Amino acid sequence: MQTVITTNSSQETEDFAEKLGERLRGGEVIELVSDLGGGKTTFVRGLARGMGSQDMVHSPSFTLANQYQSKGLTLYHFDFYRLDDPGVVRHELTEALMDPQSVVAVEWAEAVKAAFVRPYISVIMKPTSEDSRQLTFTYSEHYKYLFSVKD
Ligand code: ADP
Ligand code: MG
Repeated sequence: MQTVITTNSSQETEDFAEKLGERLRGGEVIELVSDLGGGKTTFVRGLARGMGSQDMVHSPSFTLANQYQSKGLTLYHFDFYRLDDPGVVRHELTEALMDPQSVVAVEWAEAVKAAFVRPYISVIMKPTSEDSRQLTFTYSEHYKYLFSVKD
């Protein structure tokens, strides 16, 4: 299944992600695909807010992984930019993927996609102007609950 939206500011991207964040139940895996500056981290910021986290989301580019706790769920935010091998972080990713109370969001996931044993949502973020992004969500039926409510 596919959902395509356009956002015209980083705030709109964050707001859309916030709505998805409110519907997360745990067990979701989200792959974020774009070039640098596409809006992947901005999207995760919205997810965290929607899940009720008060924490400020920053790019985990140097630490590779951040965690945000809220309402019994843990949002794991991974960024494997320029990594062919995630090294020790692979273990943390595997643990996160096995935990039904976790939501896993991954930037630059190519090197680790084989570890995605659960169905995952792919978000392709394409700049259409300096402040606009076309977001294409591709997902299995399993994830309909995240997208079926229009508001
Ligand atoms: P990435 O993690 O993909 O490298 P970031 O989220 O860190 O991207 O940065 C996206 C940049 O693009 C930010 O500076 C943000 O303000 C800007 N931006 C402009 N328009 C948008 C939009 N519609 N959606 C998301 N970010 C946008
Ligand atoms: Mg980023």
